[in-house]
Amino acid sequence: MTEKHQDQNDTSIAQRFYDSLIVSRQISSEQLNRYQQEVATTLLEYVSQHSAWHANRMAPVLRNGQPDFNLWHEIPVLTKQELLADYHLWRIDDIPQSHGRLILTESSSSTGIAVALPKTQMTDTATACAGFRHAALFGIDYRAPLVMLRSLNPMLARIRSYDVEHERSAPVRRDQLWGPSWLDDSSRGPRHVMSVGLSCDQVLNRLDEIGGDAGGCYLNTSPSKALDLADHVRIHKRHAPPLKAILSVGEVATAAHRHEIRTHLDCELIDVYATAETGPLAMQCPESGFYHVQSELGWVELLNETGSPAQVGETGRVVVTPFYNLAMPLIRFDTGDLAVAGAACKCNSPHPVITKILGRSGAQLRDRKGRFISFSPDFAAMREHLGNCRWRLTQSFDGHVELQYMQTADEEKINGPGAAELIHQLCKDADFDVSVREIDVLGLTGGGKFALTQRLVS
Ligand SMILES: [Zn+2]
Repeated sequence: MTEKHQDQNDTSIAQRFYDSLIVSRQISSEQLNRYQQEVATTLLEYVSQHSAWHANRMAPVLRNGQPDFNLWHEIPVLTKQELLADYHLWRIDDIPQSHGRLILTESSSSTGIAVALPKTQMTDTATACAGFRHAALFGIDYRAPLVMLRSLNPMLARIRSYDVEHERSAPVRRDQLWGPSWLDDSSRGPRHVMSVGLSCDQVLNRLDEIGGDAGGCYLNTSPSKALDLADHVRIHKRHAPPLKAILSVGEVATAAHRHEIRTHLDCELIDVYATAETGPLAMQCPESGFYHVQSELGWVELLNETGSPAQVGETGRVVVTPFYNLAMPLIRFDTGDLAVAGAACKCNSPHPVITKILGRSGAQLRDRKGRFISFSPDFAAMREHLGNCRWRLTQSFDGHVELQYMQTADEEKINGPGAAELIHQLCKDADFDVSVREIDVLGLTGGGKFALTQRLVS
């Protein structure tokens, strides 16, 4: 097949998948569940035939050949440690032709462990189409430019950047456009890739340049990097860049992040919850603001402390079975994240609801009574006590939390007792002491992420 024919074939597969996602948003939750069982059956059969390691793990549900989903919970949950330890055992190199080529990516280095993650082209297609469905719900206009402000890791290196310096003289290539490939080129705007390592001034100037010419642009980055830009605009009394919206991914977007971005960048955050290993898991609903599980892409379970499904309002570990990555099958993979289960959404979507994503369980603060504290920051209130200092809560031992802050170039007036009292208020009735300490360096990671809480005690 020639490259052109291959492109046309890929586009037609993507468009069919997208159309099926539009239909499945309108079916009942029971129908959606049956659809999931059909796709999961195909996955389990393929995986058990091609990997003894997986077949052994899935034996409980495959007792009679056909999967019995009533026994699903008997498949042991797969931890990240097990995944890394048995790296050479769980991979499947024999990918069916219908799933396209094999793609190698690397997991985010912000977790401290970088690991090569194989995936199929079909995984990318499914991910992109779910993103297009999400974009349609928010009325995203693909004709406007998209700026991706990300760490330039191997994944992004595959995307050939549209060079701003030459944009007026050089014609835009088709692979530099964003949005669904089945749209006319005239309906798709350019995609720019920028390193998250650029200074806020450099980024804001570029956004002015790109968005100003086009009547506004979209920015794709992490919530922390977006907050960093909002802080810069506020502190330096700059005008907000011409942003239509920020499409965020990669970490928890709190109500406080959203408030700061709305106030100082004059746009909304449209968030996707995804992990490096699994791809997108849930996407923000335009009506409720909660997150809809992307059921067509995988099975997402929220499991409480007893290993049972979390009830409405209950916090659970996020355990996922992505359906399409046959190169790296993850059956009941524990992402290490916590989230809160929600009731059916007012938008009538059949997709299960997550009301709040809490992030990594290992980063949650814990009090003397052993309770995990769901911390909701209030950046504006903290500025009353710490000025423009960046800050974080670190727990090095039980019963104690340290509020660490970093002075900016200007000397700030610090009110330590007031800041500690605010943390107590924000943590509701948490039973721990709070001390305050200045530290030298408190910056975003190379990937543009920043954890507001970290627990160093297991
Ligand atoms: Zn909804």
